[in-house]
Amino acid sequence: TIAMAAIDKMGHIAVGTSTNGATFKIPGRVGDGPVTGSSAYADDEIGACGATGDGDIMMRFLPCYQVVESMRLGMEPKLAAKDAISRIARKFPDFVGAVFAINKNGVHAGASHGWTFQYSVRSPEMNDVEVFTVLP
Ligand code: ASP
Repeated sequence: TIAMAAIDKMGHIAVGTSTNGATFKIPGRVGDGPVTGSSAYADDEIGACGATGDGDIMMRFLPCYQVVESMRLGMEPKLAAKDAISRIARKFPDFVGAVFAINKNGVHAGASHGWTFQYSVRSPEMNDVEVFTVLP
């Protein structure tokens, strides 16, 4: 899955996701990609979240909606991301997945479970893309 969040000059926030589906995807499967709040969610007033991983498990928890709502309640992106992942891990200790979170000020973080996750960031002040590695 590729999930991407963008914040424009006016502060509008958008997020989108694209996936080829889970490995060995069965024909007709609807994964987490098209489920709003599961693989992506954004709110101009708060920030955005994108997710990747075992969509059949993750979609039951709407982790990206959870992340944005936790940030709305005041959590920093790092804690919001960790919280969303640990809610899933508590019920499914073997699941593999990750989320990134970014708030409207551009503070970002990731959290992962079962694998090492990488996400990249680019802003107008940066000369190049920076890659961040999130250990499980
Ligand atoms: N979340 C995707 C799915 O379950 C897989 C992925 O993230 O690569 O369809």
